Amino acid sequence: MTYRGRFAPSPTGPLHAGSLVSALASYLDARAHGGSWTVRIEDVDAPRTVPGAADEILATLEHFGMHSDEPPVWQSARGAAYAAAFERLRATGLIYPCGCTRREIADSLLSAHARHATLAYPGTCRDGLHGKSARAWRLRVPDGAAAVVTFVDRWQGIQTQDLATEVGDFALKRADGLWAYQLAVVVDDADAGITHVARGADLLDSTARQIYLQHCLGVPTPDYLHVPVVSNDIGEKLSKQTGAAALDRNAPLDALVEAARHLGIEAPGESLETFYSAATAEWAKRFAR
Ligand code: GLU
Repeated sequence: MTYRGRFAPSPTGPLHAGSLVSALASYLDARAHGGSWTVRIEDVDAPRTVPGAADEILATLEHFGMHSDEPPVWQSARGAAYAAAFERLRATGLIYPCGCTRREIADSLLSAHARHATLAYPGTCRDGLHGKSARAWRLRVPDGAAAVVTFVDRWQGIQTQDLATEVGDFALKRADGLWAYQLAVVVDDADAGITHVARGADLLDSTARQIYLQHCLGVPTPDYLHVPVVSNDIGEKLSKQTGAAALDRNAPLDALVEAARHLGIEAPGESLETFYSAATAEWAKRFAR
């Protein structure tokens, strides 16, 4: 098998110490396997996209010595591919329009499961819109044992999620008309022939949905590895929302050494070349045997 990996940042702000860890993990995994590594700009969520952030991320990755082996893919240019996948699912009857607002979903969950509330969509519109107008489009998840998705994560070990009770039918097209992240990622990974996904553990919870969607679309499931997220002093995941500082493009080595340490790797920060060769060798010992 030819290894094909990717780093898929959302351009909601500049690269910071947290997103650098995901970038580095995916890069080292690709290098350790002798595979290719490509950047995908996840700008499908247009309202959250910050102008100029994607170019800034790409420039920072270059300065940090991580070069995309193929030209970066931009989700904003892939609407036709998402529409085609959506139509295929629609033809099979697996998706349906939903007229519920967030408020209605929250209310029905509270009243139905006052004590054991889960966040699963309760399936209100499964058998029709009940006079409401269509907002989002949802993918039907199976009931019973068929809803349980299990996979082995190379970092986190065996993972299991019951889509029926923990997630419910999930949106592929959002109420604002945008394609949902889950659909875009699955279609993009499949079209790019991605064989290995290495990303932050904040996305672990999305993986079962993506695997189920891959089955519905008849595309392969990549191998997954979710690295621990970086938190700030008060335990919040580093992100633009929690005020993470942008990386200094001109001082890559200290940040890279720190990111590698977060991944359990000690690599010298004398030059990019010595750093990457030592870090790749260390990563290979753990993950590419
Ligand atoms: N765009 C997502 C993020 O920045 C990552 C998606 C993925 O790696 O699958 O959190």
